[in-house]
Amino acid sequence: MTSKPVLIREDGTRIDGRKPDEMRPVKITVGVLKNANGSAIVEYGDTKVLAAVYGPREAMPRHISMPDRVVLRVRYHMAPFSTSERKTPAPTRREIELSKVIRESLESVVFTSLFPRTGIDVFIEVLQADGGTRTAGLTAASIALADAGIPIRDIVVGVAIGKVNGILVVDINELEDEYGEADLPLGIAPNTKEIVLLQLNGVLTREEFIKAIEMGYNAAEQVYKIAKEALYNKYINILER
Ligand code: ADP
Repeated sequence: MTSKPVLIREDGTRIDGRKPDEMRPVKITVGVLKNANGSAIVEYGDTKVLAAVYGPREAMPRHISMPDRVVLRVRYHMAPFSTSERKTPAPTRREIELSKVIRESLESVVFTSLFPRTGIDVFIEVLQADGGTRTAGLTAASIALADAGIPIRDIVVGVAIGKVNGILVVDINELEDEYGEADLPLGIAPNTKEIVLLQLNGVLTREEFIKAIEMGYNAAEQVYKIAKEALYNKYINILER
C-alpha cells in the first residue's frame, strides 16, 4: 500500500504550491470548432475540457421532442487518452451519471420554453483529466451555449471545493481528490447566485460546509470574469474584422 502524500505543506501551501483559496490557472477559449453552433475549451490547470453545442434544431429521434420546451441532451465523455492509463472509450456508469447531473444543471439556466419541439445537443469531451473534469466541463458547456447564442439566465461556473489534511481548498486536482477527505463539486450561476449543481463526497461539518460554499462563490466570481472576457474577445474580434 502506498502512503498518503502530504497535501498541505508546513508553510500552508498545497502540493502544487497553491494557497487554499487559489484556483489553478484558468484558461478559456471560445469558438474553437467551425462545425458546432457554439464551442469552448476550458482549462483548470492540467484539466482540459472541450464543449460543443448543436442546436436548437429538430429533436432527433422525433419522439423525444416536447410540445412546450426544448430538450437538452448532454454527453459527458472522457477521451481514452485523457487519463494516464487508457480509459475505455465506451460510456461508463460514471459518465452516464455525470451527463445527467450536468444536463440538469444546464436546464436550470436555459430558457427552455423559447424553443418548443426542438433539441439542443451538448457534447463535453475531456481531453486531459487532472481532477475537476465535471466542473470544468460544466463551465465549458455553459460558455458553449452562450457562444451558440442560446438565451441563458447566466453562465454556470463549476468549481470543486475539497478538504485535504483537514483544510478546505478550492479547485482540487486529482491527487487532492484521491487522497483528500471530502470533495464538494459546485455549479454556481454567479449573477443569480443560484447553486445549480451540488454533490458531496466525504464528510464536512456544518461550519466547513458553509465556508466551502463561500469559497465556491469567490472562485466562481474569478472564473466568471475570465469567461466574460473570453466571450467578449471572440465577438469584439468578429466585429472589428
Ligand atoms: P472529477 O473529474 O469531476 O473530479 P471524479 O472525482 O470522479 O470527477 O474524478 C477525479 C479524477 O480522477 C478525474 O478528474 C481524473 O483525473 C481521474 N479519473 C476519473 N475517472 C478515471 C478513469 N476512468 N481513469 C483514470 N482516471 C480517472
